[in-house]
Amino acid sequence: MKSDLEENPAFENSGCENLGHGIYCVDARYIQHGIACCYLMVEGDQVAIIETGTAHTAEGIAEALAELELPKESVRYIIPTHVHLDHAGGAGLLMQQYPEAQMLVHPRGARHMVNPTQLIAGSKAVYGDEKFAQFYGELIPVPKERVISVEDGEKYELNGRALEFRHTPGHAEHHFCVWDSVSEGWFSGDTFGISYHEMGADLASDRSDRFIIPTTSPVQFDPDKLLASIDLMMSYNPKKFYLTHYSVLENPESHADLLRAQIEDYRQIGQLLRNESEREERIHQALQDITLARLSSEQPNLDLDTMEKVLAMDLELNAQGLDVWLSKQEQKETSA
Ligand SMILES: [Zn+2]
Repeated sequence: MKSDLEENPAFENSGCENLGHGIYCVDARYIQHGIACCYLMVEGDQVAIIETGTAHTAEGIAEALAELELPKESVRYIIPTHVHLDHAGGAGLLMQQYPEAQMLVHPRGARHMVNPTQLIAGSKAVYGDEKFAQFYGELIPVPKERVISVEDGEKYELNGRALEFRHTPGHAEHHFCVWDSVSEGWFSGDTFGISYHEMGADLASDRSDRFIIPTTSPVQFDPDKLLASIDLMMSYNPKKFYLTHYSVLENPESHADLLRAQIEDYRQIGQLLRNESEREERIHQALQDITLARLSSEQPNLDLDTMEKVLAMDLELNAQGLDVWLSKQEQKETSA
C-alpha cells in the first residue's frame, strides 16, 4: 500500500484526498464536483466505506481502492449515515461490488435499504422524475441478511479500530454519526451542516475558517433534536468533522456556535411567518437574507452573488424542510 497518495498526481485528478489517519475523501460525483463525498477508512488491510453517494459514485471508489492497491475483499463495512439518497443511494450497487462487506445502518433506515420503493417515491416528490434520474440513477435493494441495524452507542471494530455509533436525530430520524477515536473526529453526515470549499475565502485556512449552514431538508427536521445532537457530538471534544458536504472541517467550536445560532434563526423565522400566505416562499426569502447577512459578516471577502448561487439549492430545500416542520407543529396543535 502506498503511504503518501499526494505524491501521485494522477490520483489527485480522480478526486481522492488523503486526510491522514488512514482516512481518504472521495468525491461522490453528485450533481457536480465538490457537492458530496464519501470516505474510505483504511486500517491495515481492511476498509470501511462511510457514505455511499449515488449510483454514479461507485466508479470513483473503485478507482481509489485500486490506487491504494486494496482488493475488493478488503471492504468490510459500508456505512451510510442516513438513508437520504445522496448518502445511501449507491449502497445497493456497492454491496454488489464488495461481496465481503456488511452494511451498518440506523434501525429506522434498514428496511428502506432492503426495499427502496419509499425512498424513491419520497425523493421524486422533492426533485421530480427527471432530476431524480439524473442525480441518483438506479437504486438497487440490499440483501436483508447483509444489513445490520446499529443501536445508539454500539461499537464496531475495523481491524481493531473502534467505531462508535451515536443516533443523532434533528436532520433525519434515521441518522447516526460515527465517532473515530483515532482521528478524534465525527463522520457527521448531514447533522453537522454543510460547508463547501467555496464558503471559505482563504484556502490556507480552508479547514478551520469556512462558513457553515445547517441542512434542514424535508421531511424530518426538528430544531430541538438537531441542537441536542450537536451538543452530544461536541461533548466528545472532537478535533475534526468529516462532513459529507464537504470534506474535513477543523475548529469545531466556532462551527458549532454558527450552526446553533442559525438553527435558532430558522426556528424564529418559522414562528414569525407561520401564518403568512405563500409561507414557503416567504421563508425561503428570509433564509436567504439572513444567511447572506451572516456570511458577509463572517467571510467579508466572499462575493455574495456567487455565494447566493452556491447556496441556492440548499436554501430552497431548507425552506421546504422548515415549512414541513411548521405543518407538523400545526397538526400537533389541532390534535392536542
Ligand atoms: Zn440528509
